[in-house]
Amino acid sequence: MAFPMPLPHFLELLNLLPLSLVVWTGHMIVFHAVGLGFAWCDRTGAFQRFKLRDNDRLAYADFLPRVLFNQIFILLPAMWLCERFGIAFVGAPHIGIGFAFAALVLMTIGHDVIQYGAHRGLLHNPRFRWLGHNLHHSTRASSSISACYMTVPDFFLTIVCPYLIPLILIGGGTSDLRFQLLVASLGAVGGLYEHSGYDFAAAIKKATASRWSRLLHHIPPSLISSHAHGEHHRRARVSFSDGFGSPGLCDLLFRTRWDLR
Ligand SMILES: [Zn+2]
Ligand SMILES: [Zn+2]
Repeated sequence: MAFPMPLPHFLELLNLLPLSLVVWTGHMIVFHAVGLGFAWCDRTGAFQRFKLRDNDRLAYADFLPRVLFNQIFILLPAMWLCERFGIAFVGAPHIGIGFAFAALVLMTIGHDVIQYGAHRGLLHNPRFRWLGHNLHHSTRASSSISACYMTVPDFFLTIVCPYLIPLILIGGGTSDLRFQLLVASLGAVGGLYEHSGYDFAAAIKKATASRWSRLLHHIPPSLISSHAHGEHHRRARVSFSDGFGSPGLCDLLFRTRWDLR
């Protein structure tokens, strides 16, 4: 059977849309597909042996309205404005692997610094309690979708800014669709996993122990484990960096990582 629309024509159609909108749409598909996948695991008990935290009392559908509000009315306009002002999602349409790798490393470090500063310095500062971070802490980091269950200021400071500011600082990330989709998708998967209550780090280490054990011992726990952010939800005063996928540099520098405090 023929594809309803030839792929080149479909890609041409994408070119007519703002890149930020296409990237946001890709991010939404990845976020909710993976999020629903974790929710399905919660309901069916699949991978239960990797589930370390008790399920949240709210279900996916209960979290959804607030999460969608944040994604549609805060994230999308912020991304679109960056493109409109020419500070992100603009530039060369194709970049090389080397550039992409360097950009990812720099963005990961930038993400850690901004997320840590906003999270610890503002959201956990009693003077800024009105920003409403306690809403996010009302969850146990045991439902993937709760990654974006937060007040608008919280979402702006800990999701939007740590994503877009490093992107702007590296020059906007170009208009390479594959790179922009990769960045947005990695962010989605990282947030979902660290709030899922599942932790596959031990299984990954075990599975690769024979060949990669030495290498894995040098990888910070936060890079493959969701434990750090679970500890943050439980103890509140530790592990302010994002969990999975984060180098956790600031937690290490300021000795706030869960196993150092
Ligand atoms: Zn959280
Ligand atoms: Zn917090």
